[in-house]
Amino acid sequence: MVKALALFSGGLDSALAVKIVLDQGVQVEALYFVNAFLPARHNTEMGRRAGQLGAKLHVLDISQPHLELVRSPRYGYGGNMNPCIDCRIFMLKKAKAYMQSHRFHFLISGEVLGQRPMSQRKDTLNIIERDAGVKGLLLRPLSAKKLAPTLAEEKGWVDRDKLFDFSGRSRKPQLALSKKLGIKEYLAPAGGCLLTEVEFARKLRDLIASGKLDLDGVRLLKAGRHFRLKSLARIIVGRNEEENKYLLGLACDADILFKMRDFAGPLTLARPVRVETSEEFATLVETAARLTARYSKGKDRESAWVDYWPKDAEDEKKSVLVTPAGEGLIEELRI
Ligand code: SF4
Repeated sequence: MVKALALFSGGLDSALAVKIVLDQGVQVEALYFVNAFLPARHNTEMGRRAGQLGAKLHVLDISQPHLELVRSPRYGYGGNMNPCIDCRIFMLKKAKAYMQSHRFHFLISGEVLGQRPMSQRKDTLNIIERDAGVKGLLLRPLSAKKLAPTLAEEKGWVDRDKLFDFSGRSRKPQLALSKKLGIKEYLAPAGGCLLTEVEFARKLRDLIASGKLDLDGVRLLKAGRHFRLKSLARIIVGRNEEENKYLLGLACDADILFKMRDFAGPLTLARPVRVETSEEFATLVETAARLTARYSKGKDRESAWVDYWPKDAEDEKKSVLVTPAGEGLIEELRI
């Protein structure tokens, strides 16, 4: 039986691509790539989403190599920090290797010609195919009639007449087709990739500039309000109980933690980058304590006590009396 491997993001386009080819009697299985910039909850949802379509799910974790690609993409970034062309090339290379080792006959993706300004123009679709080495192997069922026939069509594994000619930014044709095919659940376009978000991109640029881009650093970007204290430290203030717990779980031994002594308030994590003198350490403690107080129930007090301790030595807890940070300091330090 002819088998196809579909790049699957859980979004509408990839779901449609799977369904269109399945409905032609081809056995389709879905391949989902995990990277550090996708919401963790997606990973658990994908099996169910693929199952609803009638496709078995395969998962590949590309978090570490994907991070290297985000640091310096050959084809640059899209609107924010999303290196979509490099990302697609990388995923397709991996998919091709997986296809060959697991005896699939061809690949499928849900790309639509002209839908995204950077990665889905005709010239970039060609570059992606060429650089990934998948020319002829990759069928894009939603735009197939606007593209050259692929192996799957030439061999008669799929009927080109039953494929589509979608193009452009409107999603109306996909929405209409989803109704016809009975696809009700899908993720928003870009699949929740944090690299496409303005605020996240700003924090990521700061992390790269600090020279500390690693998976642990990226995880920290996903929670809290972020502040940069010159080249001394990054300070992260939790926004709710869930984020407080998340930050605590990610704290490493060199981190300093802060909490209000007499008021309800956030957990603050200060991650020193280059604190060499006792004056620099005092500046770090005072600033992080002032930010902690600013987001606590004691924010309108003239002064308040804040506890702080090294992550690896809670018994060394100390307290400092500070004035809650004002708007000026917040604006100056906010990333
Ligand atoms: S949106 Fe994110 S995951 Fe999707 S191709 Fe672009 S960089 Fe990759």
